[in-house]
Amino acid sequence: MSQHVATAPRHHILRIRRETRRRLVSVTATERITPNMLRIRFASPDLHDFESLAPDDHVKLFVPNPLGDEPCRRDYTPRAFDADRGLLTIDFALHEAGPATAWALAVRLGDRIEIGGPRGSILVADDFDWYLLIGDETALPAIGRWVESRRAGVPVKTIVVVGGDAERQDFATRADWDAMWVSRSGDDAALLQAAVAACGPLPQGDGYVWIAAEARVARVLRTYVGETLGHPKAWMKASGYWMMGQADAHVSLDD
Ligand SMILES: Cc1cc2nc3c(=O)[nH]c(=O)nc-3n(C[C@H](O)[C@H](O)[C@H](O)COP(=O)(O)OP(=O)(O)OC[C@H]3O[C@@H](n4cnc5c(N)ncnc54)[C@H](O)[C@@H]3O)c2cc1C
Repeated sequence: MSQHVATAPRHHILRIRRETRRRLVSVTATERITPNMLRIRFASPDLHDFESLAPDDHVKLFVPNPLGDEPCRRDYTPRAFDADRGLLTIDFALHEAGPATAWALAVRLGDRIEIGGPRGSILVADDFDWYLLIGDETALPAIGRWVESRRAGVPVKTIVVVGGDAERQDFATRADWDAMWVSRSGDDAALLQAAVAACGPLPQGDGYVWIAAEARVARVLRTYVGETLGHPKAWMKASGYWMMGQADAHVSLDD
């Protein structure tokens, strides 16, 4: 008697696109979760059909423009969405300049803002043998979602550069999460690359690597992991979440 074992395809990476519309949402709570990370919660009946399926989804925020009538658009990660209560959470990494940051710092309960998206999601199967997530503060909301959503026991390594020990965050997860925090004491690219190098060769088995940081930093890390460490590009995603000296920059580094 022969036995047929169905082999499920491994490592599906599925891109989905959806129609988007603008939603008007109101601020219901704010909290400094660390000195430089401001969490804002939004509620609205308009969120009844909101969905965010992937850790690195993003929404557009339409924030007041200090220089004109047209609002500025900025990309932010839905850190969490509570569908039962219709509550959307976004974490703002505070920096010195920019209309989104200025808006977040001045926000008051009841303030309203329009959001759009997420327009697309990239669904990475949770069947890799390990995950490596690299980034800066702007990547932390997505990294939090990655860590929280991986299956029990799977090794997940995070390497994140932050302004100091007080910026470290804790995530609830059943994955085997190994957090490496790097304190900013120079160039992010050099610091993150040295941190990755200090971990030695990549683990055995199939892994998925996700990188998001300032555009040049993300590019350096992508080259290091892809070319020096030889990680397959199909199992890696790298993005510039902002660009030094340039407003509203989103740079996809995938071929
Ligand atoms: C897909 C995606 C998801 C993102 N998710 C988040 C998120 O969840 N939380 C979050 O905080 N950010 C997130 N970002 C980054 C955020 O969109 C940018 O930091 C954005 O530029 C902030 O807008 P702003 O109006 O404050 O500054 P801008 O007007 O865009 O920029 C003004 C100046 O500030 C500089 N700048 C921008 N961001 C930073 C920074 N972080 N540190 C230092 N200087 C900076 C710019 O180079 C520019 O010179 C995400 C970006 C992308 C592409």
